[in-house]
Amino acid sequence: MEQIILLCLASTFLSAVHAQKFLYSPKWGPVGYKEREEYDGTAMDEIIKANEFQASRIIDGTTSLREGDIAVSHGRRSKVCFARSCLWPKSVDGHVYVAYKLSPEYSEMETKLIKKGMESVEKGTCVRFLPWTHQRDYVDIQPKSGCWSYLGARGGRQTVSLQSPGCLRVGVISHEFMHALGFVHEQSRFDRDNYVTIMWPNIWRDRLRNFEKFKTESLDLPYDYGSIMHFGMYAYSQDGEPTIIPKNSQNSKDIRLGQASALSHIDKMKINRLYKCGINDDN
Ligand SMILES: [Zn+2]
Repeated sequence: MEQIILLCLASTFLSAVHAQKFLYSPKWGPVGYKEREEYDGTAMDEIIKANEFQASRIIDGTTSLREGDIAVSHGRRSKVCFARSCLWPKSVDGHVYVAYKLSPEYSEMETKLIKKGMESVEKGTCVRFLPWTHQRDYVDIQPKSGCWSYLGARGGRQTVSLQSPGCLRVGVISHEFMHALGFVHEQSRFDRDNYVTIMWPNIWRDRLRNFEKFKTESLDLPYDYGSIMHFGMYAYSQDGEPTIIPKNSQNSKDIRLGQASALSHIDKMKINRLYKCGINDDN
């Protein structure tokens, strides 16, 4: 018995030492996030900050986060959505209506920000967010722990978590809605190795899986370094060194990865192509 207690004490001590080193090492960070004066963070940087420091990767017994902020239930349905997008239905008027419920816990200011995130997705695309009335399928926006969304339309009610205050930035909100529309991160594209180099040794060991590739539909659109869905250059960095570097090209130093607050032009084209909407649909 005494031995067991000793062992427990030793491991508690060790993990405390580890945690301390982890939390206070000046180089460390925090992981995956560079301070603002050095680096203008992307939407994904904010998400990493919120999810790694305030939330758990396990949402509940059957749901966990993949790629940092995509909720996956351990069932068949989610796997199908990773292989091909699960689309929201298109209305006869050409729009894709996504019904939403908004938690009453959000303040008036927070509600405004969430609506701005919706507008950022709507502008130049055929997607329209509508307050829920009776629709069977809808997103239920709640200030749970962390910023995350399921991928694509799952059928029925699906949560989008926008923690307050960590996730209430327009870029983060739009990013999560893009997941709900069926998009994974840009650097998970199957052909990404032609465009970026993943610096595996610099990635926080426990998060290597966040850099997997998926057989996604590129929709015949160019690789988009400036997508709101692209990880920043230092995403999940364990030592402050870059984890993603644009491939050698004449102006690779000028290429900025990711986006802070708005969808890129190509992001909007992606939505319109995936949902087969008119290219000039900007009403
Ligand atoms: Zn994401």
